[in-house]
Amino acid sequence: MDIVHDPDEILRKKLSPVTKFNASLRKIVDEMKKSMIAHEGVGLSANQVGLDMSLFIARPKEKFYVFVNPHVELFEETDLKEEGCLSIPGTWGITRRAKKVRITYQNLEGKKRILSTEGFLAHIIQHEYDHINGTLFTDNALELLDVPVNQEESNEKNAN
Ligand SMILES: [Zn+2]
Repeated sequence: MDIVHDPDEILRKKLSPVTKFNASLRKIVDEMKKSMIAHEGVGLSANQVGLDMSLFIARPKEKFYVFVNPHVELFEETDLKEEGCLSIPGTWGITRRAKKVRITYQNLEGKKRILSTEGFLAHIIQHEYDHINGTLFTDNALELLDVPVNQEESNEKNAN
């Protein structure tokens, strides 16, 4: 799967709910996971690979998460984060994000789940939830920085 880049219009679409929890969905998620790992990303939404499906994946460290038809609630307390996006290569920015979130979603079997989390995973979830609602981090960043590609490669930061 190739990564879709800004300004592709699918990145501006509010994505449609997933209704079928079958082998085809599992295969899509598996392919998304391979693309995310190949690009050293920490998160990836379906529209970033050209699919109109309300789902995203995340891998803050070793553990891999799949969130289908998610709804995210933000807790009040915020902090500033440095953030990048696989769909906007070479651009980094400072964003204000909630420290904690609660996400209601379905798993790959279609079962309803709720996860409360904080830190890096909470941050990835907010970035990806924006994606499935057609928002890019550059829309709300407090400051944007262009990083030359060769410098970016040697950087330990991860985009999502
Ligand atoms: Zn992104």
